[in-house]
Amino acid sequence: MGEAEQFDGGIFDASLEGGRAAAVIRFRTGCVEARVASGPCYELPYAGLRIELGGHSGRVVFLRGAAEGRVIFSEAKGFLEAVRERGGMTVEAAHEAVTSGINRDRRRGRGLWLIAAVVLAGLVWLIPLGLRAGVDGAVASMPKSVDAQLGELAAMEISRTGPTVDDPRAAAFAQEVVDKLVAVLPPEEREYAFKITVVENAQVNAFALPGGRMALLTGLLKRADNADMVAAVIAHEISHVTKRHGLRHMVRSLGVVAGLQLLLGDVSGVAAVLAQGATLAVITNYSRDHESEADAVGMQMLAKAGFDPAAMPAFFEKLKSLDASEMPKGLEWISTHPDHDSRIAALRALLPTAERGKAAVLKNSFAEAKAAVKGD
Ligand SMILES: [Zn+2]
Repeated sequence: MGEAEQFDGGIFDASLEGGRAAAVIRFRTGCVEARVASGPCYELPYAGLRIELGGHSGRVVFLRGAAEGRVIFSEAKGFLEAVRERGGMTVEAAHEAVTSGINRDRRRGRGLWLIAAVVLAGLVWLIPLGLRAGVDGAVASMPKSVDAQLGELAAMEISRTGPTVDDPRAAAFAQEVVDKLVAVLPPEEREYAFKITVVENAQVNAFALPGGRMALLTGLLKRADNADMVAAVIAHEISHVTKRHGLRHMVRSLGVVAGLQLLLGDVSGVAAVLAQGATLAVITNYSRDHESEADAVGMQMLAKAGFDPAAMPAFFEKLKSLDASEMPKGLEWISTHPDHDSRIAALRALLPTAERGKAAVLKNSFAEAKAAVKGD
């Protein structure tokens, strides 16, 4: 093939208006070159070049350089062969590149998301590690760092809920309760970075993000009768983290593509979805099965850490008397669920199974924590 051989295609580059342009592509010594109609010429060296297949047809060849952002692509006949010949890549390497290189580029998140879906629909037989065997198997094979990455993406949701309460009486109390509960977890579950922030918000609620970041809303602190009730809700939230419900929910609702990406430790595609809004709902809109699991696991944790397990059904019972303004809004299945009574009944039925550890003694006072937050 001579230097003169050229292909119609295009280029993505941040310097272009709209980020992309049509281009004529040529293979040079050491690099592939894309010349746009307006004159400028862009190059990608063969070294470090990755090949991805995609597009609606599945036949668009994307060439991605090692440098961030620049992609040269063409659907022209013979283009992939030319790349392989000049760049020295094999089809196998190209396929590997397809599965590992999906959607790294956040700028083009949505478009690539579609491309990834199309590509993976064709490659589904290649997907390893039991994705077809179920979400749980896939999640189990993902490192815990994936939870943390997912949680980081949603971390702004905590500050969005309200101003942080810095008063050490409230903040230290909440973290001490967390630490007491975490101390009774099996060692592998203690690896998450459990950190709670007290947030000024009248709703009686708390929530956890994957990886261990949590928010305790001051409304809950105000309405709880004792430390055991606060601990009951936090134990429930910690269980969402250790049972990886956020990640499971993401994989379940976004499907195989997101699952595969997360499996590869790549959260950029998920980030693109989260960027479209409703982040917290996407993560914390758990299934009833997950809520029931968090209740059951949370109750055992609560008891083992030396809190009163009866505080859990008692707190949910108390929620029934809340004003509408204090009701949790869509974050968590705390009080608005139609099956609230059956939830309380299920928790009471579990009480005899809860093995209570040595009574928890807190250095920080619940009464002072409560007094430290605003509200009536
Ligand atoms: Zn929950």
